[in-house]
Amino acid sequence: MRIVVLVGGIGGARFLMGARRLPAEVTAIVNTADDLTLHGLRVCPDLDSVMYTLGGGADAERGWGRAEETWTVSTELAAYGGEAPWFSLGDKDIATHLMRTRMLDAGYGLSAVTEALCDRWKPGVRMLPMSDDRVETHVVVSDEDGQRAVHFQEWWVRHRGDIDTHRFIFTGAAQAKPGPGVVEAILAADAVVVAPSNPVVSIAPILAVPRIKEALTTTSAPVVGVSPIIGGAPVRGMADRCLAVLDTPVTAEAVGAMFGSRSESGGILDGWLVDETDAGASVDGVTVGAAPLWMTDPEATEAMVRRALELVGVDA
Ligand code: GDP
Ligand code: CA
Repeated sequence: MRIVVLVGGIGGARFLMGARRLPAEVTAIVNTADDLTLHGLRVCPDLDSVMYTLGGGADAERGWGRAEETWTVSTELAAYGGEAPWFSLGDKDIATHLMRTRMLDAGYGLSAVTEALCDRWKPGVRMLPMSDDRVETHVVVSDEDGQRAVHFQEWWVRHRGDIDTHRFIFTGAAQAKPGPGVVEAILAADAVVVAPSNPVVSIAPILAVPRIKEALTTTSAPVVGVSPIIGGAPVRGMADRCLAVLDTPVTAEAVGAMFGSRSESGGILDGWLVDETDAGASVDGVTVGAAPLWMTDPEATEAMVRRALELVGVDA
């Protein structure tokens, strides 16, 4: 059985910890629109969150980066006044970015680089960047300096989203090609699952790559999503801030409607799994089911993945 999962970073990584327990070949299509270049290094936060978490090297408490991290380089940069003070890189993490940047500079695509990094981490799922092309989430904001677009990481890590915000732009997405293997994986899947990742800045950028969206709407595999919103709140993270920018209510129902029905509204979903507390939710043209959606541990998360698959008639 082949399962394809669309994911962002931390929420996506937790979901995959459950999905990889199934007797199935799991392919993760990972958002790359959070990627940025810092100190000349290419940093891919969502790919790294997934790789470190599944590889057993993540700092569970901090929620991002490596366990047992040290900060020597960052401290030295700060002493020169040369650190991006809103985005610290740990020493161990820097080694990943050095390797990645070196390989990219040598001409390898991001997908090949990711595969090479995964030789070390053995995440237990196939990790495919959504695209090898550069796509970045920019956020149009305004403050006393006027209106401007900032990188998503600056919007979130520096401003905590606490700035007058107008919209998100996925630069490069319309021209981007899906990463090698992405379309093939979607077309050959027995099921496609949209992880409970941030719908606005983790899943939407993946859907903004035209040929990925097209593969999702044409694949014979059912597509089922799992709600990242429980009882009107994002469990962790900033999905509420992002939804507010779109004037979309912070509810499981509204996020389901935003993804839309594959059969009726040009959307991507056949099924939408919400938490038990949201059991009344309905989305036109989509089969809605309810189950506990707290990803407390990999066992509970595995049960959640199974319920999602059952909802669209796939027995794992
Ligand atoms: P990021 O890229 O690191 O921000 O991570 P993701 O986009 O993959 O996931 C972040 C989203 O996961 C959050 O905005 C939450 O809405 C959702 N989330 C986190 N933990 C849970 C959980 O236990 N259950 C559910 N249903 N959603 C969760
Ligand atoms: Ca992210």
